[in-house]
Amino acid sequence: MPTPQLAVIGGGQLARMMQQSAIGLGIDIRLLAEGPDVSAAQVVPDHLVGDYTDLDTLRAVVADAPVVTFDHEHVPPEHLRALQAEGHACRPGPDALLFAQDKGAMRSRLGELGAPCPRNAIITSPADLESFGLPAVVKTTRGGYDGKGVWVVRTDADADEAFASGRVLLAEELVDFRRELSALVARSPSGEIRSYPVVESRQADGVCAEVVAPAPDLDPALAAEARELAERIAAELDVTGILAVELFETTDGRLLVNELAMRPHNTGHWSIDGAVTSQFENHLRAVLDLPLGGTEARQPWTVMVNILGGTVSDLVAQRAVVLAAEPDVAVHLYGKSVKAGRKVGHVTAYGDDLDEVLARARRAGGLFTDGTPS
Ligand code: ADP
Repeated sequence: MPTPQLAVIGGGQLARMMQQSAIGLGIDIRLLAEGPDVSAAQVVPDHLVGDYTDLDTLRAVVADAPVVTFDHEHVPPEHLRALQAEGHACRPGPDALLFAQDKGAMRSRLGELGAPCPRNAIITSPADLESFGLPAVVKTTRGGYDGKGVWVVRTDADADEAFASGRVLLAEELVDFRRELSALVARSPSGEIRSYPVVESRQADGVCAEVVAPAPDLDPALAAEARELAERIAAELDVTGILAVELFETTDGRLLVNELAMRPHNTGHWSIDGAVTSQFENHLRAVLDLPLGGTEARQPWTVMVNILGGTVSDLVAQRAVVLAAEPDVAVHLYGKSVKAGRKVGHVTAYGDDLDEVLARARRAGGLFTDGTPS
């Protein structure tokens, strides 16, 4: 095996899609995978299987790799500090990653930066929540994803499960939002920064269902504000690689930050087929401190629809059906077994007419999920 230029911790679909870009750029990746068959282990020949919470396992993976990056944000920061002390560049670094790992830390830091956020407070008791005021959204500060660890609280009883979790909890005002937006930026250690067009992300049951790029009918001033905000957060927090800033567009036309992700993000998958340079390629360029590529859209509209596990159990067999119905839709399967609601792939359509593009992407997504166009 060639000496790796980059170690990637975590073997999910994000690492798998990084590998697609790495092939073109001639970047040799060594991967730490959670199991022999996980999504990225299937496509990265130089992989080790092990536990990312074990420092010696991390040391073995990064041994001869100068730079380390991540498929997820869960590597313990103290391990990353140890790797840095041993001469490996962790990108993003542990000090930045904290703000993607801990929503309490993220809220207080963004507050210091003057970034617009929902009113929020750490709560430790029902009395704290009462003085914060209802309705509210209560979240675990750590470990939540895809809506897990988030409770909408309208009456005291709605918070029982949250308090029973025994986790540190953050209360936020229940934001009255028109829609959810996402602003992605790539930033390199030497400070080069590029932001992508702001997209609209549509959720179903707390999970991203589809993304429209760019966000339709977004006030250009608000779009510029979102991009500037994301660039400023990336610079202030010294993020390297991709930063996704999930935003609410409130019903009265303001932006509020929901949360931060420091890795390629589901709301950026459209860029593989829709932008001059995909988020995965720009993530690799950024963490290796190579010049970044253009982030502009290649065509007026791009729509990405997630394939969430449904009644179709064999996606590979279903592929021919989808391609026959929608030959121009780009298919991205993650090599994962189908489980209800699990993200197992995505499809992307693009073109000049948003309604037509949306219909094609949904049809292909529906054929992969339930065998019927949705
Ligand atoms: P996760 O870490 O699971 O993605 P989020 O903090 O993004 O959790 O919350 C999941 C979803 O819950 C958001 O996408 C949004 O739809 C809703 N949500 C989160 N915070 C608020 C809030 N303060 N007001 C209204 N809705 C919210």
